[in-house]
Amino acid sequence: MTISPDTVSLADIEAARARIADRVRHTETAASAALTERVGYPVFLKCEHRQLTGSFKLRGATNALLRLPPEIRRRGVVTVSTGNHGRALAHAAAAEGVRCAVCLSTLVPANKIAAISAAGAEPHVGGASQDDAQQAAEKLVAEQHLILIPPFDDPDVIAGQGTLGLEIVEDVPDLELVVVPLSGGGLAAGVAAAVKGLRPRVRVVGVSMERGAAMHASLLAGHPVPVDEVPTLADALGGGIGLDNRHTFAMVRSLLDDVVLLTEGEIAAAIRHAHAVEGETLEGAGAVAIGALLAGKVAPRGPSVAILSGGNVDPALHRRILAGADTVEELA
Ligand SMILES: *Cc1c(COP(=O)(O)O)cnc(C)c1O
Repeated sequence: MTISPDTVSLADIEAARARIADRVRHTETAASAALTERVGYPVFLKCEHRQLTGSFKLRGATNALLRLPPEIRRRGVVTVSTGNHGRALAHAAAAEGVRCAVCLSTLVPANKIAAISAAGAEPHVGGASQDDAQQAAEKLVAEQHLILIPPFDDPDVIAGQGTLGLEIVEDVPDLELVVVPLSGGGLAAGVAAAVKGLRPRVRVVGVSMERGAAMHASLLAGHPVPVDEVPTLADALGGGIGLDNRHTFAMVRSLLDDVVLLTEGEIAAAIRHAHAVEGETLEGAGAVAIGALLAGKVAPRGPSVAILSGGNVDPALHRRILAGADTVEELA
């Protein structure tokens, strides 16, 4: 399959890195003794849950915002989000003194909405799905002329997320495998473009939850398809990929080696492992790469990196998962 010419290149990702260098952290890549023992090859954790705003989303949001000409940026920005992209864009917009509105569905956890307000942005909460939130964002674009910065299907957002892949290759030169959380595919597309641009033989495997994995269903169908959005411990992986997807579907289809799905119990086990064994506090989406290795759903053949994509878990929810709860229903 060929990638459309406007797809993100390694040069775009390197340019993004220079653009955002003084606004984001180069997060550490920490060796995991327990996972290394478990899989038989060195395993490293890319600690993006320690990124400013608690997730990698700051990379793409900052790059997209800084790519807007100043006179356009001044009108303000709007986005639709499962929480972390909204928080990241709120942070990036505040740094530029720019207005920011974030449209979210009622599935988004309260701690994420509170963080968006705390960063000085306006949360607009309503509707039961990402599609509803998308419509609310389009209304703000039409009525208030805000600039839409999409959460994943945007070349500047993808290039920003790809900067994480450049750091991985620098920090683990003999890399064989990268395991990446997958929802709309901005992270996976950017990381795969960066990693394979520099190391063509490295495998990149995406991980989603069994409940409502839109990219996985779309890859099987051969085109973007809608999915039912249902509550999951990996709330940041919820939502569709957009039926008019222009970038991430094609990139994920051509660049990823495999996509695997986790049960809710496997996600909960990964959150518990991260806390008890690695000493890391992760949200569900941030733990799925560990979950795929623990469940044996991805088999390393050499040095491997698991991307820990976010840590913005509601503290009360986190405590209940640590105490043994395995599904959102048990937690309700
Ligand atoms: C958004 C998000 C993802 C998925 O990123 P996509 O670019 O939509 O695939 C994974 N983990 C966390 C913590 C996120 O916030």
